[in-house]
Amino acid sequence: MSITQRLNQIVETLPPEVTLVAVSKTKSESEITEAYAAGQRIFGENKVQELVRKWEVLPKDIQWHMIGHLQRNKVKYIAGFVSLIHGVDTLRLLREVDKRGAQEGRIIPCLLQVHIAQEATKFGFDKAELTQAMDIIDQGELSHVQVRGLMGMATYTDSAPQIRAEFQYLKSLYDTFQTGREAFDTLSMGMSGDYLLAIEQGSTMVRLGSSIFGSRNTA
Ligand SMILES: *Cc1c(COP(=O)(O)O)cnc(C)c1O
Repeated sequence: MSITQRLNQIVETLPPEVTLVAVSKTKSESEITEAYAAGQRIFGENKVQELVRKWEVLPKDIQWHMIGHLQRNKVKYIAGFVSLIHGVDTLRLLREVDKRGAQEGRIIPCLLQVHIAQEATKFGFDKAELTQAMDIIDQGELSHVQVRGLMGMATYTDSAPQIRAEFQYLKSLYDTFQTGREAFDTLSMGMSGDYLLAIEQGSTMVRLGSSIFGSRNTA
C-alpha cells in the first residue's frame, strides 16, 4: 500500500474527535509531500534539527509538532513556528519555552508529558510533580505558554491489559486537571502499535508514524 492509501484508511477509521499527528521523523520530504497531497497537515518530528530543516523547505501551512524529548538549549530554534510541543517534562523546560515564546511574541501551545510506562527510560512528570507544575501554571506568570493537556507513552509490551491500564491512568489524570481549565483539551496518547487501545481509553490525539509511512530504518 502507498502512503496515501494507508493514510486514507487510518483517517477513515479515526473517530472525528481524534486528531492525527503524522509522525514523519526520518522520512524524506517527498514522503511527507505525498501525505500532504493526501490532505494531512499536522506532522510530528522528534529531532530539532530535522524539524527546522523540514519546516524551512515544506509548505508553510503545515502544523509542526515537536513530539520528542526536547533539550532546553534547543527550544530557541523552534519557538518561532512550532504548533505544539508534546514532550514538556520539566518546569525548567516549560519556563524556557515561555521565555522563548515571549521573545518571539507568541504563546506556545504545550503538553505536559506524564511518565506512565514501567520503563525507566521514558521521560515525564509523575503525579505529584504534575500537580505541583499545574499549581504554578495556574498562578499565571508563564504568559507565553499555553498548557493544552497531557501526553504519555505506554510501555512497549504485547500486554494489552497493561497498556490499557496505563492509558486509563493517564486519562484519569487528564480528567482531573481538565476540570475548570478551558484550554485544556488535548490528550496525546497512542502510537502505531497501541492507538486503538488509546482511543478506547479516551485519547484525543494519536501520533502515528510507521502505520502511515512504513517502518523506519532508524528510530
Ligand atoms: C516515533 C514516535 C511516534 C510514532 O511511532 P510509530 O510506532 O511509528 O507510530 C509517536 N510518538 C513519539 C513520541 C515518537 O517518538
